[in-house]
Amino acid sequence: MLHRLNKKRIVIIILALSLTVIIVRGIFFAFLPLPQFLENLSGEKMKPKDILFDEVAFISVFDVKTNRVFEVGLEEYVFCATAAEMPASYELEAIKAQALAARTYAFTHMRELYADSTPCKKGLSDVCTDSGCCQSYKSIESLFEKWGSNASRYAKKVYEAVKVTKGEIVSYQGEPILALFHASSGGVTENSENVFSSALPYLVSVDSPNEEFHTHFADTKVLSAEYVVEAINTSFLEANLRKAELSKQIKVLERYISGRVKTVQIGNSTCTGRDLRNTLGLNSANFSIEFDSDKVIISTIGFGHGVGMSQAGANAMAQAGSNYIQILTHYYQSTEVTSIYPKYDSISPP
Ligand SMILES: [Zn+2]
Repeated sequence: MLHRLNKKRIVIIILALSLTVIIVRGIFFAFLPLPQFLENLSGEKMKPKDILFDEVAFISVFDVKTNRVFEVGLEEYVFCATAAEMPASYELEAIKAQALAARTYAFTHMRELYADSTPCKKGLSDVCTDSGCCQSYKSIESLFEKWGSNASRYAKKVYEAVKVTKGEIVSYQGEPILALFHASSGGVTENSENVFSSALPYLVSVDSPNEEFHTHFADTKVLSAEYVVEAINTSFLEANLRKAELSKQIKVLERYISGRVKTVQIGNSTCTGRDLRNTLGLNSANFSIEFDSDKVIISTIGFGHGVGMSQAGANAMAQAGSNYIQILTHYYQSTEVTSIYPKYDSISPP
């Protein structure tokens, strides 16, 4: 009898404990954001060790922080560069487009793969991790750290974007393109010759609608007149700006059709809109200037040089239903998506 009672009690205790665990888990899930809730329901979380690609080629990378050169698989490099260059909260098709831009850039710098390659200017490797020199790169571990509680969801998205586009690049007439991109065009991209020295047939101005819902679309900078005078006079010795006459001395003279400033009067001299953007650290060259006593108020539209793919525009296109090929061929006119790997099958089969 006693033995039976004990058995019954044990069963009740186990049931009570199971019920408590179920209730506690339920409360825990209830407080999770929906995407994480769904992820927890649907399966395993992605961890850094799960970011594995079937690599065909390797790229040498100079880490400017550690002064170290390391080799990494091209597809892993593309994952790390894509995630470093575009917000992982963006749509999958926009991230795929970014992955092709990153892979095209990497490919044209790889001595092993591309005969006309132009390796990193620093001369130590194919590419470096400095976004001012090559393109941004973040290690898998640092990306997971940056993404925090979204890490698994974002990693899965970028991983898929890279994996399903393996080996794909953007080409113009059979040659890899210069896949320039920027954060936000502000509505219209720019012809390459208006920003950089040369005109490229696929880097021409196109409309980029629905960017206004993205961060970086518009910005206002309030600078002291004193700062503006010093910054411009230091960069342009002929300008000879004076604080008291500033509102008469600075004037936008000419704009491109896109709205970006072509030339500006700065005192006794003139400069390009791009030069003034660099001198004053403006978000873009599409700016307008107002003066208010000793303040200079500069409003900008867009973020970045404006040439090639607008990341905000790519995301807006993806939200409207475009796929990555439609996005890429819009921002890089008359181009096509090609694969780099079939050429190397005989050397290193995938
Ligand atoms: Zn570099």
